[in-house]
Amino acid sequence: MKHFPIYRSLMAAVSLRRAVAIRLLGRRHRDFRAECDFTVDPRAIEMGAKSEVKNDMQATLNKHKTVEGHQGHVAFVGAGPGDPELLTLKACKALEAADVVIHDRLVTPEILELARREAVLIDAGKEGFGPSMSQDDINALIVTHAKTGAQVVRLKGGDPTVFGRLDEEIDAVTEAGIGWHVVPGITAASASVAAIGQSLTKRGRNASARLLTGHDMKGFADHDWRALAQPGEVAAIYMGKKSARFIQGRLIMQGADRATPVTVIENASRPDQRILATTLDALPSALTEADITGPALMFYGLSPRETQAGLTRIQQQELA
Ligand code: SAH
Repeated sequence: MKHFPIYRSLMAAVSLRRAVAIRLLGRRHRDFRAECDFTVDPRAIEMGAKSEVKNDMQATLNKHKTVEGHQGHVAFVGAGPGDPELLTLKACKALEAADVVIHDRLVTPEILELARREAVLIDAGKEGFGPSMSQDDINALIVTHAKTGAQVVRLKGGDPTVFGRLDEEIDAVTEAGIGWHVVPGITAASASVAAIGQSLTKRGRNASARLLTGHDMKGFADHDWRALAQPGEVAAIYMGKKSARFIQGRLIMQGADRATPVTVIENASRPDQRILATTLDALPSALTEADITGPALMFYGLSPRETQAGLTRIQQQELA
């Protein structure tokens, strides 16, 4: 019971601070709180100086409301393919410092756990019930939070610069006069090619590799199929599940060998990763049979390295 009075004055200081700081959000609130913890002596309240303490707090609050350094900022951060160990140190630090984390549906819970306990987590990529958030709404959400002075992390699966609609978000943030930077991440193609033990480029086989999307805003995406149909070409196809039959048709029409290897990597780098080794000819039926439901990347022109240890069950079946 000896500690009771100091505990009571501490509580009094906290509730006073809360009353003063009402409407202060994000980083400004954190900084204000930290300064109060440092400058306010809770015993002063017990000793009858409550209004003086309150005035001091008000002055601290006014300072934090106006200080230039409390401007919001947006970090566009790559969360990698799903395995938390494939996050960069920079991404981890950004998560630790964030007041608000706005993430898409590819980001795994294990990665979100690395955010501060007090951080506000917002899922901007909900699917399943109701339509997912429009790009304009996401832009507005990022800007609104940054304008409160918050450090916002816009967390995107893989690398934010690969099929991530990054430019639209940067434009919105720039237009609002808010500072930003990009933290790169490991893209699905890198994680997937690692999973099959191959190189993305190889001397004597392919001197370039393409990153393609299966569909764009207009529907199935068109590409230079004629160039891709040449022997030895390699392409990492993102978002290609629905357009697999279209892609197959275009490539065969342009003379691609039906026996060209195609490898599908589902949930690359995650515990439920699956590898499906097939050919251009069998691609659509192989996809249906395997019932791929997670995010999947297709490699056109690459098969898993046969000598690789630890092949998954599906891959072993396909190779047998
Ligand atoms: N910015 C992301 C790509 C976003 S587009 C990146 O750099 O990886 C979304 C597509 O990425 C998915 O449809 C899928 O094709 C691919 N993808 C993302 N994560 C994946 C994963 N863990 N395994 C396989 N493919 C993945």
